[in-house]
Formats: sequence, structure tokens, C-alpha cells
Amino acid sequence: MMEMHYKIHEEVRFVKGFMRAIAYDLNRCDYDFLPNSLVDILHKYNGNSLLYLEKALIAIANKTIAKEYIDFLIKKEYIFIIEREYINQFSCLNLEFNLPSHIFTAIIDIEDTSMVANYKIIEQLNDLGCKHLLFRFSNQFDIERINVFLSKYKTLGFHSIGIWMYSLPLLNTKNIKAFCMQNVKINKISIFNHKINKQNNFKTVEIQFYKANWTDATICLANRNNFHINITLFLESLTYNPYFNKKIYIDKKGFISNAPYCMIFGNIKTTNIASILNEDFKFLWAASKDKTFICKDCEYRYMCVDNRIPKKSNNGMFFFENGCNYNPYIARWKDQEGYVPVEECGTYDREAGFVPGKTKIAELNKRIWCEGDN
Ligand code: SF4
Repeated sequence: MMEMHYKIHEEVRFVKGFMRAIAYDLNRCDYDFLPNSLVDILHKYNGNSLLYLEKALIAIANKTIAKEYIDFLIKKEYIFIIEREYINQFSCLNLEFNLPSHIFTAIIDIEDTSMVANYKIIEQLNDLGCKHLLFRFSNQFDIERINVFLSKYKTLGFHSIGIWMYSLPLLNTKNIKAFCMQNVKINKISIFNHKINKQNNFKTVEIQFYKANWTDATICLANRNNFHINITLFLESLTYNPYFNKKIYIDKKGFISNAPYCMIFGNIKTTNIASILNEDFKFLWAASKDKTFICKDCEYRYMCVDNRIPKKSNNGMFFFENGCNYNPYIARWKDQEGYVPVEECGTYDREAGFVPGKTKIAELNKRIWCEGDN
């Protein structure tokens, strides 16, 4: 009988964290958790005989579990079975990430539309290849005023527009729908100061109502409800920080920075946007999760976008001053039983950054995962 081999699908990427791995299904935009030891074996024998894989799995588990793993991997189409002669017929996924734009995303706070028009902010961004705009309107803007503002820019080459606005008295479902119909590039509307939290989508537009005020920090902070699995985010995250990469922020007074709460590089009233795109401005773009302490040990690192501002450490790596709600050393979120902050899992060293305490982590994991504390 012909010996069959297995191959990992190129669009499935197995990403190891400190405690466990994740299979990123980049086509189906979905994921599953796997043990790190299984991922090691899958990578080691990728393209080899299925029997090798089975034997290696039996060595770390037993025959029944080995078979269950293989059945699961085939059923989920994470691996496929093929005759040996065809094993080299498949091309590899190109992991390079390039965006043909100097700036790809812009956040613009708007209090004064004449500033936007006088300094040709939107036209400058269009010339830089910007494709995604987020307008954050102050509370003086009702939906009619926003509509008039957007009508001037309909012919420019943006792909999508997000709107942040306040829930003002005349806002209702009818005029929101009419607004969406007239502005087909809008993909998301966030409405603040509303009486209740709710989501009410219309066609392809995600419409989110928040009781809260403009608390942008809480909207984008790393959060398992905000994770996205797709090939673009995955590839971008391999090399760049997907929140900061090719992003620009212009506040209501015209000050230009990477994003809200970041260092200011100039003012739109005196500075052309293109002139500030130097290495200093691009510094945060390269702060990928692989170059960031703690995140580099996290299995979510290529699906997680968060707006904390990375700082550079002495050894060239990045770190965050504020902790994340997830502890990758014990695979526990803050709201889950057994969670302890990352600080209890290691120590900070001026040169080496965060150093995981392996004995302490092993004890914690034994308690959480082996003694039924979960
Ligand atoms: S540790 Fe880093 S990568 Fe993991 S969830 Fe938190 S912010 Fe995201």
C-alpha cells in the first residue's frame, strides 16, 4: 500500500505561546488551542509520513490520543494527507507585508471643519495613499452636519470611513440609515452618550451605541472580544505593530502624532503631513509583539491589536508600562479563576527586561490546570 504523507496547510499557522499554542486558520478567520508539544511535532515532521507523525504523538501521549489529534487536525483541515510524490508541489505563503501607502489609516478629531478644509488635511492624506479614515466629531456635530462635511470628499480614493459621534436629540434609526445609504464608504459608526449600550447594524455598517463618553482607551485596549484572525493582520503583526503601523492622528487643534496620547510631531497649520514622516515618526511602527516583552510569549500575539504606547528598553526590545488583562504564562484572563498578574510570574531586569520565573510559573500552572482549580 502506498505510504501517505501529511502537510500543514499554508494558510494555517501554528503559533506557540509560553503555555499553549494556537492554530490560526487565516482563511476561515477562526482558531483553536493546541498543546505546544503537538505543534513542535507537526512542524518537525511536516511533509513526512503520517506514520512518523503518529509514532511521535504516541511518544508524548498514547495511541488513542494520538489518533484523536490526527483526526481532529484532518477534520479541521489544518493538515492534509497526500501521496509522497506530490508533497513538493505546494508553494509557501509569502510572509512579507507591504502596504503601497505612506499612511494607511488616519484618525482625525473634528471640532472645526474649516481647519480641515483650509489645510487640505483630507487631500494630503489621499495623496499619501491613506485608505481608512476615522472621524471623531465633537458634540456640536449632528448627523446632518456630518453628512455635509463628508459630501466634499466622496470622490477621493478612501476604502472605508469610521465615524465617532454623540447621540444628539434628533438622531434616530431613520436618519442613521439614510446617512449610511448616502455614504457608502462608512463601515462603522460609534455613537456615544447614548441611553443604552446596543449594536444595531445596517447592511454592512456596524453601528454601536455606547452609554459611555468618548473613552477611546477602553474601546481598543487588548481584549479577547476584539481579536481578529485574518491574513492581513497576521502578516502585518509578524513585522509591525498593527495599531501604530502607517497610522496618523490629527487632534482637534491640528496637532499631529502617531495616535491619541502620543508625542506631537507638528501642527497641520504650519507643517505638511508628508514632511513629518521621518524615522522618528515611524519608530512605533516597528514595535511588533515579537519585539515586546511579555507579548512575545503570548499565543494571541498575531491577532491582538492594542493601543498602549510601547517604550523602548535598554536591550532594544519594547515594553508596556501598563499591564494587559491576559497573563500568557498561565493562560488566564483577569476575569478567570486562578488569574494572577504577570508581575507575580517573573521579575523585571534593567537589561534583560521581563524574565519569567519558571519554577513559580510551573507551580501556578500545576495549581490551575492540574489540581482542578480552574
Ligand atoms: S499579552 Fe500582549 S499579545 Fe497577549 S493579549 Fe495581552 S497585549 Fe495581546
